[in-house]
Amino acid sequence: MTSISKHLQDILASIQSVPHAQHVCLLAVSKAQSALAIREAYVAGQTLFGENYLQEALDKQAELTDLNIEWHFIGPIQSNKTQLIAQHFTWVHSVDRLKIAQRLNDARPLNLPPLQVCIQINVSGEASKSGIALNELLAFATAIQALPQLKLRGLMAIPEPTNDDNKQRAQFKQVRECYDALVANGFALDTLSIGMSDDYKIAITQGATIVRIGSALFGKRK
Ligand SMILES: *Cc1c(COP(=O)(O)O)cnc(C)c1O
Repeated sequence: MTSISKHLQDILASIQSVPHAQHVCLLAVSKAQSALAIREAYVAGQTLFGENYLQEALDKQAELTDLNIEWHFIGPIQSNKTQLIAQHFTWVHSVDRLKIAQRLNDARPLNLPPLQVCIQINVSGEASKSGIALNELLAFATAIQALPQLKLRGLMAIPEPTNDDNKQRAQFKQVRECYDALVANGFALDTLSIGMSDDYKIAITQGATIVRIGSALFGKRK
């Protein structure tokens, strides 16, 4: 067994060990990892992969066309990258500006299903540049919902890292409360993309449905 397949089995078991974790998907974050490493994880059973950098992702996708991978874009999006992202990914987790959402919508090929998107929200206030402010969320979600080539699935967040489990839990809970508020406003959502290598178990206790895990699966990034 390779170390990637061993890590994969350990992570899946650890996800399942958290109560109420039946519907949690593992997104393997493969930024800075080789196409070979992705292939190894795929052979071990992993099919969802997340990438942050467009060109790097396209290069690896070109080497892996024989695999039935579902690609998720999770990094910051510049407007000149929207066309290729809309063409080459099934999901985008990091939508946080209307201009970007509109460009993704306009560029999504009509012969493909709508692009599955999450709104990235900023729960750490000033500390992070990415993600929309919480007081703009409802209006933003309403605008996204009106774009026919995007399918709004839920929320994504990258809370400020902390060694304090209670603080981490509170940050995830805040994301969960934003999600619940949208659902209460009539949005049909099913996705909460929270939790990374160091905190995914806490995220699951707060309702994560997708955990995005890189280093715990592939090892430390170079
Ligand atoms: C890198 C990255 C991850 C994975 O981080 P690890 O700590 O290696 O698990 C998850 N989400 C996003 C948005 C990332 O950029």
